[in-house]
Amino acid sequence: MSDDHKKSASSHGSYGSLLFDERWRAKRALIIKRDHNKCVNCQSSDELQVHHRQYHFIKNINQFKPPWDYHSSLLITLCKRCHNKGHNKFKVPNISI
Ligand SMILES: [Zn+2]
Ligand SMILES: [Zn+2]
Repeated sequence: MSDDHKKSASSHGSYGSLLFDERWRAKRALIIKRDHNKCVNCQSSDELQVHHRQYHFIKNINQFKPPWDYHSSLLITLCKRCHNKGHNKFKVPNISI
């Protein structure tokens, strides 16, 4: 859990600590359940993490949206391996809303 989105945490300031929030834990559990407790990429059930396909920056308050506030379609379950691979390969787009 603690290394979920490590790379983005550095650019989002305190974003990393939000991942310990119980609202995120509830959302995360929901997504993993929806994806049948498996990585959507390789079907592994080892060290599952939930990945954001987009990050939303809310212009009026000058802050990123809290991680649990995203639509479920923007969240997917990945194992640690696929998650790390994905982050090395693709940059998560920041979208201003
Ligand atoms: Zn995987
Ligand atoms: Zn991710």
